Amino acid sequence: MQIKRINHLCSAYPCHSGLEDCTFCYCPFYPCLKAELGSYIYSENLKKEVWSCENCNVVHKQKTVDKIFKLIRENTAL
Ligand code: SF4
Repeated sequence: MQIKRINHLCSAYPCHSGLEDCTFCYCPFYPCLKAELGSYIYSENLKKEVWSCENCNVVHKQKTVDKIFKLIRENTAL
């Protein structure tokens, strides 16, 4: 049984299509600079180019989050 890790009360919900997991609401890999996951866009507000990952949901997949937690556990000295 998979544990539900979605914040249905979030005002941005659902922030990405295929959202499965809100654990890493802000991506720990930002900006990943991987062209297959995002791209630079011009921000009118900031008046400069910023990395956009609006179409990426990699970090919102449960399998990805589970892998990140596994890596943290394996590489953290207790
Ligand atoms: S990932 Fe963050 S912004 Fe997206 S629905 Fe979950 S809590 Fe809201």
